Amino acid sequence: MKSIAVLFVTALAASSAAATATAEPVKNPALAAQLSVMAPRVVTWAEKLATEGRAHGVALTPAQERIARASGVRNPHDVRIIVVDRIPLPDEPQLRAAALEVGLSPSSALGMTLGYTVMVVRGYEDNVRLLSHELRHVAQYEACGGIRPFLTMHLADLAAFGYEDSPFEVDARAHEQDGPPVLRRASSGG
Ligand SMILES: [Zn+2]
Repeated sequence: MKSIAVLFVTALAASSAAATATAEPVKNPALAAQLSVMAPRVVTWAEKLATEGRAHGVALTPAQERIARASGVRNPHDVRIIVVDRIPLPDEPQLRAAALEVGLSPSSALGMTLGYTVMVVRGYEDNVRLLSHELRHVAQYEACGGIRPFLTMHLADLAAFGYEDSPFEVDARAHEQDGPPVLRRASSGG
């Protein structure tokens, strides 16, 4: 199963310009129907990666915990960071195609969050802007009640608004923090 990895891909270049999510007609009804059908597979894939994150990820440092709290995360101790060489992409052709269609750019993906698992590309693990953005996604998962409800909503939003203007992305960009690099604990190496 693959992903949605894509869905939370974060381009560092994304500024905090906030597009307002208004109730527009669905941008792409065909895609909306397609994503709706794919949702259960996306959830399964996401839950699998999140489980791996719980097993192999690294807990937040105190400095990172402060960023998490400022991002609205209720349970920072549950967050796990995984450093990856590349954000995992959907293996399944249909999911991959859908990801591209919603405007995700795998080549520029620097981070992805699935529940309490935050993946960041190696070299960006100390980047406060990226971390704060991804931690805001953690807060969104918490507010929604978990991976399934979050992704169900986010997939529908992606079809309705496109990636950049989807409400969760707009909100995450609006909560990006700047700051000096935060040192991590010894790297988990993956
Ligand atoms: Zn994001």
